[in-house]
Amino acid sequence: MSQPRIRTAPARPERLLMMGSGLTVTLIVIIVAVLLSREHASTLQAAKRATTNITQLINADVLRNAELYDLALKGLIAATARMDLNQASPEIRHMVQFDQSTAAPFKGEVLLLDAGGAVVADSSTLWPTPRNFANRDYFQAHQQNSQAGLFISRPFKIRCNCDQVWRIAFSRRVTGPDGEFAGVAVATMRLAYFDQLFNRLTIGNGSSVNLLNTQGILLAQQPLLERDMIDKDLSDRPNFKRILREGEGSFQAISALSGKERLYTFTNVGELPLIVVVALASEDVFAPWKRAALLTSGATGVLCIGLLWLTWMLRRELRRRYRAEQVLSELAATDALTGLANRRTLDQRLRLEWDRAQRSSEPLTLLMIDVDHFKAFNDNHGHPAGDEALRTVAQVIGGNVRRPADLAARYGGEEFAVVLPHTDVKGAWVIAEHIRSSVEHLPRVEGAQGPITVSIGMSTWDKHSRLSLETLQLRADQALYEAKHSGRNRVAEAAPKT
Ligand code: GH3
Ligand code: MG
Ligand code: MG
Repeated sequence: MSQPRIRTAPARPERLLMMGSGLTVTLIVIIVAVLLSREHASTLQAAKRATTNITQLINADVLRNAELYDLALKGLIAATARMDLNQASPEIRHMVQFDQSTAAPFKGEVLLLDAGGAVVADSSTLWPTPRNFANRDYFQAHQQNSQAGLFISRPFKIRCNCDQVWRIAFSRRVTGPDGEFAGVAVATMRLAYFDQLFNRLTIGNGSSVNLLNTQGILLAQQPLLERDMIDKDLSDRPNFKRILREGEGSFQAISALSGKERLYTFTNVGELPLIVVVALASEDVFAPWKRAALLTSGATGVLCIGLLWLTWMLRRELRRRYRAEQVLSELAATDALTGLANRRTLDQRLRLEWDRAQRSSEPLTLLMIDVDHFKAFNDNHGHPAGDEALRTVAQVIGGNVRRPADLAARYGGEEFAVVLPHTDVKGAWVIAEHIRSSVEHLPRVEGAQGPITVSIGMSTWDKHSRLSLETLQLRADQALYEAKHSGRNRVAEAAPKT
């Protein structure tokens, strides 16, 4: 007997629900990721802007002071070249020579060295103590190269009030009347100048402001990342090589010193062989972003988990409802007493199989089954026993109808109907006869005089007959009447009609 098939889950709506919520969660995650990455990019942009401003500020200040030193040197060289000053008193000559030297801040001594490196004039005294600086880089640079221009030396230390103080020297070549090397004008500057300049800037922990010369020698660093950093040669560091190559700009890279990622922003100081580098720890730059990102991703995670949980609950509810609907629709299609299909299902299925048979030209047989003398059975054994007998007969009928397309139904009262698609008269007769004889051989009800029996009327449609569905049913009824009339407990076939 064919039963309505029960599926455990409503596949399509469930798939739609799962896909919908999966898509929503994916979209939320993508949107949040895009927003966070944009925020990350704009944080980086803001940090670059801020550090670029710092480098420009330092650049301007250093450039202005370097110019003051250069002016002092140029003034000293110009005064030395004046022949008329040879006749002037040492005081006047000293005053003219070092006239420009007072303005520069953090100034050390300003000296004039002759071609042999010996001090011939000293800004601090009229009578310089005999000293020789021929071995210093700021002297040799000009001695070896007439085009050295304003030279900035490596840092060096000199003893000043018992303290070792870092200095650098600015120097220019003194050229004789015939273009020959006539000495060097040199002015020293305390590196404390840079410390003071950099100290005014507020940057985060793990970050630093650096001044290097183009040879990669560190002149100043605030705050000092390590001891003994001043005068350190950084020229072999990949980051410095890149800075030197690019001249101006910014990039993120791992610091060879701390091993941590940093944002380097750098610029050349005018035409001078100096480079300002501001290195910010990426940790500091992105700390606020990280906090916001953590908060946002946490909230998004909770939201997504909530959404998935709701989807799961909905899916469970959907399944539960679907199962309940399935049971209801099954109940609506089934006869409560016998468990066979009810009249409504019979009508629908008969119409369906009829249409199918018309299309396929396959035969279709309808059996009408009626329990014999059932009124008397009820009267003798009572209604409950009658119900039980009906259930047993229904079981026999259902048990003989096995193909998926076959349908056994309770037509009403003690009458049943069987729809047998793809079944001709011969095949249907076998089934009908089997039902009849099975019922007849059921165990007898206690106190009954004879067995329960059924009469069966049978009507078949095939492609040669010109029956309508209504006629098919009518003829099955007539055959049943025929079976009753000719003695009951038998199968009767409707007379062939074309
Ligand atoms: P026949 O051989 O001509 O078919 O005689 P019959 O007594 O079976 O026919 P009739 O139509 O006179 O009586 C049918 C009886 O079936 C009447 C009713 O008491 C009984 N019946 C119908 N439905 C039910 C039911 O659901 N339960 C029970 N117990 N009896 C039913
Ligand atoms: Mg009847
Ligand atoms: Mg009857």
